[in-house]
Amino acid sequence: MINQRLFTHYGIDTNKNLQIKRRCPRPYDTILIDKQGSCFACECQSWLPQSIGNLQVKTLDEIIGSTLQKHLQASIEDGTYRYCNEHQCSYILSRSVLDDSPSRIKHLRLAIDDSCNLRCPSCRKGMIFHKEGSAYRLGIRLADRINDWLHGYEHPIQVHIGSDGDPFASHVYRHFMEQTPERDNIKYSLLTNGLMFKEFHTRVPNVIGNLNELGVSIDGATKHTYEKLRLGGKWEKITENLQCMAEQKRKHGFSFILQFVVQKDNYHEMEAIIDLGEHYGADRVYLNKIEDWGTLDDFGSQNIWGSVDYQEQLERVIGRIHARADQSVESERLSGRTKNNRPVIIECPTLIKESVRHRNNR
Ligand code: SF4
Ligand code: SF4
Repeated sequence: MINQRLFTHYGIDTNKNLQIKRRCPRPYDTILIDKQGSCFACECQSWLPQSIGNLQVKTLDEIIGSTLQKHLQASIEDGTYRYCNEHQCSYILSRSVLDDSPSRIKHLRLAIDDSCNLRCPSCRKGMIFHKEGSAYRLGIRLADRINDWLHGYEHPIQVHIGSDGDPFASHVYRHFMEQTPERDNIKYSLLTNGLMFKEFHTRVPNVIGNLNELGVSIDGATKHTYEKLRLGGKWEKITENLQCMAEQKRKHGFSFILQFVVQKDNYHEMEAIIDLGEHYGADRVYLNKIEDWGTLDDFGSQNIWGSVDYQEQLERVIGRIHARADQSVESERLSGRTKNNRPVIIECPTLIKESVRHRNNR
């Protein structure tokens, strides 16, 4: 049954008709599992907040293909996208909804433990770490159920870990990664704060050996800013870990990405994080506008988007994006560059969107 209260909470009008002709693949190919075991047919819970079943009481095989999942798929097929959050879904916002209706699950997104070794002000008000107790025990049960299902799954699939807590700090995710089957059809993508990578990556060779993508969230490019925004992190330790990740990338060939949440205390380091990405051989640097998760008391003070100084910094980043595009085309023309020596790709869609919005409102 559709939980209307949830949609009201997220400000989603379920009577709308977005008239989108493309068919978003996510309700067909993606399952996101949260720390209560609720499963969602989208890559983000707040984009499509209706649970399609709970892993505590059902198996994944029972949840996949359920009446509720089919009901959500029907809202994509008729083009209304009535259950989708058009205010948050980045595909809808950027008018780049994908077009595919796969017949099976290709992405499993785990959000089953929010434990982290840091307490970044933009993310949480205090330390969250489950090493025992009911949340920890439930996380382990869910991890085991997911691994049981993966053992029997024979089709290509990518398991994403780290949207809620840190994969290497969390004892639940460590347990999951230590038990996960070693099979060619299962690939992984990790999002980490990076501080425990060097210490723990050797304990999960199945995951590192089958890693498609390693994302590192790092909101400062200098010691002062990094240690202010990544509360509990040490600059010397993150740079040591970045070096280790760069070496593992060369060995295993995964995609290496730096994620930088732009806010009032770090916007002046947008160019420096690009330089840092280049220094450590990252493939991409993502610059994203800070979002309000309700953890900052004075979120309004983050509104830097119209300031002259910020706009100048953003212009310089956009200049570098253009310069890199030219450089990349020229280099490939001259020497046929390989993936590993291309200049780092810079992406900042939410910053550009905000900038356009400001310009239009002037
Ligand atoms: S359009 Fe967006 S919100 Fe809707 S299913 Fe696709 S990814 Fe999810
Ligand atoms: S490192 Fe990531 S998960 Fe951990 S507190 Fe910071 S933002 Fe949250």
